[in-house]
Amino acid sequence: MGRSVLVTGGNRGIGLAIARAFQAQGDKVAITHRGSGAPDGLLGVRCDVTDTEAVDAAFTEVEAAHGPVEVLIANAGITDDTLLMRMTEDQFTRVIDANLTGAWRVTKRATRAMLKARFGRIVYISSVVGLMGSPGQVNYAASKAALVGMARSIARELGSRDITANVVAPGFVATDMTDALTEDRKKQILATVPAGRYATVEEIAAAVTFLTSDAAGYITGAVLPVDGGLGMGH
Ligand code: NDP
Repeated sequence: MGRSVLVTGGNRGIGLAIARAFQAQGDKVAITHRGSGAPDGLLGVRCDVTDTEAVDAAFTEVEAAHGPVEVLIANAGITDDTLLMRMTEDQFTRVIDANLTGAWRVTKRATRAMLKARFGRIVYISSVVGLMGSPGQVNYAASKAALVGMARSIARELGSRDITANVVAPGFVATDMTDALTEDRKKQILATVPAGRYATVEEIAAAVTFLTSDAAGYITGAVLPVDGGLGMGH
C-alpha cells in the first residue's frame, strides 16, 4: 500500500467513494475536480479531462506531491441523453470526448511513468449499458463500450511490463447521475435488476480496489460487472 493513486472525477459520487476506499487502505490519493475543490483529506487537482494541457498539468502536480501515478482510475463521465433522431452531433461528440477520449488522455499521460516503473494498475469505469445498449443513450453507451476495447488493447500492449488494464461495469448506482432520472424510469429499471435495488457507491469501490490489489495481479483485460445481475450474459 502507500501507492500514488489518481481518481478522475473523484470529488463526488462513485469517484469519491473509490478515492475514500484507497485512502482507507493507506494509499496516497489524488482526485481531479473542475472547480469544486477536494473533499477533506484528499489531494485535489483541477482538471477537465477534455483538455490535454490540463491533464498534463494535473499529473505534474500529483507527481510532485505523491510521486508518479501507479494506480489510475478513469472514472470521470457525463451523460447527455436523448433519442437518436433528436441527438445532435455535438451531443454525441461531447460525451465521447469526456468519457472515452478523456480516459485515453489520462491513460496516455499515466503510462509514461508506469512503463518506466514497470508497474501500473488502470481501471476504467464503464457501465452495464455499454454492453447491453440503452434507448436514449447512443452516445453514452458507445463511449462506455469503447472503454472495453481500449482496456483490452492496453492489456495486450503493456501486459509484459506488469501494467494491468481492467473495466468495472456498474449497473445502477445511487448518485447524482441516477437522481436525475424520472420516478417512472427508476421504477422500470429496478424491475429489471435481479438484486431489486441500486448499488451503493461502496460496492463499486470494492471492485475497483480489488482489481488494483496484489491478489488481482494476474487479472487484466477483464470486465467486472457490479450490476446486481442486470447485465448477465453480456
Ligand atoms: P456523477 O455525475 O455523480 O459524477 C461525475 C463525475 O465526473 C464528477 O466528479 C464530475 O466532475 C466528473 N466529470 C464529468 N465530466 C468531466 C470532465 N470533462 N473532466 C473531469 N471530470 C469530469 O456521476 P457518478 O459518480 O454516478 O458516475 C461516475 C462514473 O460512473 C461515470 O463514468 C459514470 O458514467 C459511471 N457510471 C455511473 C452509474 C450510475 O448509476 N451512477 C452507472 C454506471 C456507470 P464535476 O463535479 O466537476 O462535475
